[in-house]
Amino acid sequence: MEKQVFKEILAIDGGEKTVQSTFPWPIYDESDVQAVAEVVGSGKWGNPDCSDYVAAFEREFAAYCGTKYAVTCVNGSVSLRLALMACGVRPGDEVIVPPYTFIATASTVLEVNCVPVFVDIDPATYNLDPNAIEAAITDRTKAIIPVHFAGLACDMDAIMDIARRHNLRVIEDAAHAHGAEYKGRKLGSIGDAGSFSFQSSKNLTSGEGGIVVTNDEKLYRMMASLRNVGRMEGHQWYDHFNPGCNYRITQMQAVLLSQQLQRLEDQTVLRNNNGRYLSELLSGIDGLSPLSGRMEEIRHCYHLYIFKYDAAAFGGLSRQEFVARLAAEGVPCSTGYPHPLYKQPVFQNKNFMCYAIPDSVDYTTVFCPVSERACREEAVWIFQHAMLGSQDDMQAFAEAIRKIQRVVTQG
Ligand SMILES: *Cc1c(COP(=O)(O)O)cnc(C)c1O
Repeated sequence: MEKQVFKEILAIDGGEKTVQSTFPWPIYDESDVQAVAEVVGSGKWGNPDCSDYVAAFEREFAAYCGTKYAVTCVNGSVSLRLALMACGVRPGDEVIVPPYTFIATASTVLEVNCVPVFVDIDPATYNLDPNAIEAAITDRTKAIIPVHFAGLACDMDAIMDIARRHNLRVIEDAAHAHGAEYKGRKLGSIGDAGSFSFQSSKNLTSGEGGIVVTNDEKLYRMMASLRNVGRMEGHQWYDHFNPGCNYRITQMQAVLLSQQLQRLEDQTVLRNNNGRYLSELLSGIDGLSPLSGRMEEIRHCYHLYIFKYDAAAFGGLSRQEFVARLAAEGVPCSTGYPHPLYKQPVFQNKNFMCYAIPDSVDYTTVFCPVSERACREEAVWIFQHAMLGSQDDMQAFAEAIRKIQRVVTQG
């Protein structure tokens, strides 16, 4: 073997990028443009009197998830709020949430005057740890919001069992989990209600938007009413029965979602195949551990591909420096959330404004070590659109990481 004579240069220092592909998102073509243009041309843009495309998409998405009902709304935060309100939580009730998630999972609990109770995640999956849930239940606990983080299913058998024994509602936050499955069932369809976001970064998007799916007719009717200013089907326009708001989406969003939904299954299969393949490749690299669950029971949709980074195997290179180098090599990636949610000023300072949260609640003493570690030093996220690349792209991602490792440990 000839000895390597050239010195490798990282892209961040002006060398050639390892990954040459680019990863567009959103993905659309002329048919999407046409579909939206037709709705615009029809002049029927919104409001419940001309919401055929909205109703059609709700039927399609419910059918895709295997639920009886679906209610669209303006975003995936409002969808959580609708589900919480319809579930009948009362001021001061406790709702169990993970601290390693987007703020909406917990802030919507505040918005219904309830108390978010933070329960730590399982280090193997970054999802709520069922044992820790059980330990956090009090006589005020009313609901659990499991987040299928990154698109990896929570242990729903364990969570539903806890909920049944303690008479709790389960609202799945499936904002990362369109098309993902647990034991053959779509995520979002297992709890009392499942909430999804269609914000720009999500695996199914119309720029903004949200939806709640459920099999519970009472919940459905209440959520549909709350979304539509408290109106009820079969009554007059100016009759308001419930304390809702106007959270409706437009016909343009709905028709775009119907278009995009046709691509979701193929995209989910592709991300799933790429994710499994990438895990094989990265498992062979010293200092990296891909997150994984019981893969034979689930279908991961890789809204995020997450691995744990150990700086010791990279010559002490900090995670921040590693991610900057990886991004420069052409891998769309990030270090993710900087803090567990309870560390955010809104919780630390209890800036709760008009919300009726009991004085005894104190977030300065909350400490969830697994979430802390994930935020501080461990987690690396690769974004979902990169998981729509080819097998060659996955090999290039692994090669980019090996290149960084070679340069920082031998350089
Ligand atoms: C994106 C997201 C939401 C909220 O969705 P929006 O449409 O942005 O309001 C809720 N939960 C999680 C975990 C999310 O990632």
